[in-house]
Amino acid sequence: MEEKYIPSEKLRIFEPLTDVPMSSYTTIHCGGPADIGLFPKSEDELALMLGILRDEDIPVSVIGGGSNLLVGDGGIRGAALFIGGLRELKIRDGLMNVSAGVSLPKAARMAAEASLTGLEFASGIPGTVGGAVVMNAGAYGREMKDILQKVRVMDRMGNITTMGLEELGLSYRSSVFSEDRDDIILSALIKLDEGNRDTVMEKMKELAAKRRDTQPLDMPSAGSTFKRPGNDSAARLIDVCGLKGLRVGDAMVSEKHAGFVVNAGSATARDVRELIALVQEKVEAGFGVRLEPEIKYMGSF
Ligand SMILES: Cc1cc2nc3c(=O)[nH]c(=O)nc-3n(C[C@H](O)[C@H](O)[C@H](O)COP(=O)(O)OP(=O)(O)OC[C@H]3O[C@@H](n4cnc5c(N)ncnc54)[C@H](O)[C@@H]3O)c2cc1C
Repeated sequence: MEEKYIPSEKLRIFEPLTDVPMSSYTTIHCGGPADIGLFPKSEDELALMLGILRDEDIPVSVIGGGSNLLVGDGGIRGAALFIGGLRELKIRDGLMNVSAGVSLPKAARMAAEASLTGLEFASGIPGTVGGAVVMNAGAYGREMKDILQKVRVMDRMGNITTMGLEELGLSYRSSVFSEDRDDIILSALIKLDEGNRDTVMEKMKELAAKRRDTQPLDMPSAGSTFKRPGNDSAARLIDVCGLKGLRVGDAMVSEKHAGFVVNAGSATARDVRELIALVQEKVEAGFGVRLEPEIKYMGSF
């Protein structure tokens, strides 16, 4: 195992945590410790932290809500940078200016309170605005791409720039941040439409009920495990292969929704990864389709 990083005196002014259990910071509740955990409360603080981390050559992993992440049992070497402390939200003239750390359900609720429509689809996606931009999160036929106007980002040198919609490379569960760029998303400008508060609230309730009926929300997971293969559904293929309930250790293909791998007790990241590989193998054998994981792997396995 690689050597652990220890916070230097310079970094200690930010009161970092050490050996941060990533199982407590991810919705699937597995994964080993991050050497150092940093929780910036402002963009200025984030820039200062990045400067020190760069000077000291400490690798950085960015964590939003941890709702699409599988962190390896070996944990994260270097610093886990938790963006959840960036929490501003302002609404004016149908535009929402929202920091990356705000949760999508909260942003959707604030839009509804302001009688604005457009974010209802996101009200049940349990991540942050930053993570939703990276993933181009979506549901029920809508996605972030439909409502985003601009995104402010900070590069690893601490420089802030604004990127327009066309620069974000948003496509199905993907963006330029998924592969090519390692900027940190600071905030997003979201365009919403005039609506009726009660109608918007009602729509969100309806979508929440739909989720409760179809998804295993009572068990830890990272949401849909696989991307949609073409026009088909990963859940359908997995179900037809008879894989509901399939387990590796405590990782299990949900009985309720075959597209979800759930943690049925004390699953390790290795259990989850092995189950994912097994499902891929069986679906490929049955249908000749290789399912691609939607969840992101992070750290050492
Ligand atoms: C029960 C459940 C239901 C779900 N339903 C849906 C759904 O309907 N639709 C959908 O699209 N997804 C769904 N998801 C998956 C997940 O919620 C989304 O992918 C979400 O957008 C991830 O956001 P996050 O903040 O949790 O990101 P994380 O999981 O923390 O991170 C995801 C990726 O983004 C990067 N990242 C996070 N924040 C930043 C930032 N500020 N700057 C740069 N990089 C960053 C991370 O490094 C990582 O690569 C669901 C998950 C669960 C558990």
